[in-house]
Amino acid sequence: MTTRRALVTGAGHGIGRAIAAKLAAAGYIVGVLDLNAQNAESVAGELEGAMALVADVTDAQSIDAALDAFGTAPNLLVNNAGIVHFGPVIEESLDDFVRVITVNLIGCYIASRQAVQRMSAGDHIVSITSINDRTPAPGSGAYPAAKAGVRQLMRQLAVELGDRRIRANSVCPGFIDAGMSEPIYANAKIRTARSAAVPVGRLGTAQDVANAVAFLDSEAGSYVNGHELVVDGGVIHTLLKHLPRD
Ligand code: NAD
Repeated sequence: MTTRRALVTGAGHGIGRAIAAKLAAAGYIVGVLDLNAQNAESVAGELEGAMALVADVTDAQSIDAALDAFGTAPNLLVNNAGIVHFGPVIEESLDDFVRVITVNLIGCYIASRQAVQRMSAGDHIVSITSINDRTPAPGSGAYPAAKAGVRQLMRQLAVELGDRRIRANSVCPGFIDAGMSEPIYANAKIRTARSAAVPVGRLGTAQDVANAVAFLDSEAGSYVNGHELVVDGGVIHTLLKHLPRD
């Protein structure tokens, strides 16, 4: 099999960094794309066959320049770049709401749109959503709406790009002890309570998410298309466990 080339957005930190490392270890040529130049360069420097690409997923020209610098089209695009702005959705500023939708949803659309123009049969898009794509979390602003949009966008791409034999899938992480959630789990009380709430008894890791991405892009995952792979230790199914019974 020829060497696959993967472009991972938001790969300078957290989950994206773990995805880039997992793919590089599996022999991919990896584009470590991030808005933060220092982090992109540092991660790319740690990985065999990796290249730092400084770009903003909300800017099509910036993404095109990164694709040009990467050279040949990516066989795998991982839309991982994302932000969250905490607070009740109705109380946050319009600017904050729009920014979260812009980075998470429109950024995913822009990177996919620009990459697909260069992709061919056998290529693949995987987007990192969240269990918030189906379960709103109080106090998480526009984030659940943005992730629900990403999930549906991947389904649409799976259908529209089928004729070109390009697949599109999502990975939906749950409580992950990495990246943007690190400050949450620095609180020991929250850490213990959330770990206990997960059927498998622990928080997830960035590696758990990276493993799911690698599976979907592998030969073993090659018939999976338009799917959302939930990586949450089963926490999404625990609603009825918390309701009293007589
Ligand atoms: P993180 O903050 O550690 O990393 C996000 C990266 O994206 C950063 O390196 C940042 O510089 C980059 N980025 C932000 N805006 C960008 C832009 N406009 N263009 C290019 N790069 C940009 O966050 P993380 O926790 O690793 O999150 C990665 C993905 O996983 C996100 O999509 C997030 O929504 C999702 N997710 C995270 C968790 C979690 O608990 N950590 C859970 C579910 C889903």
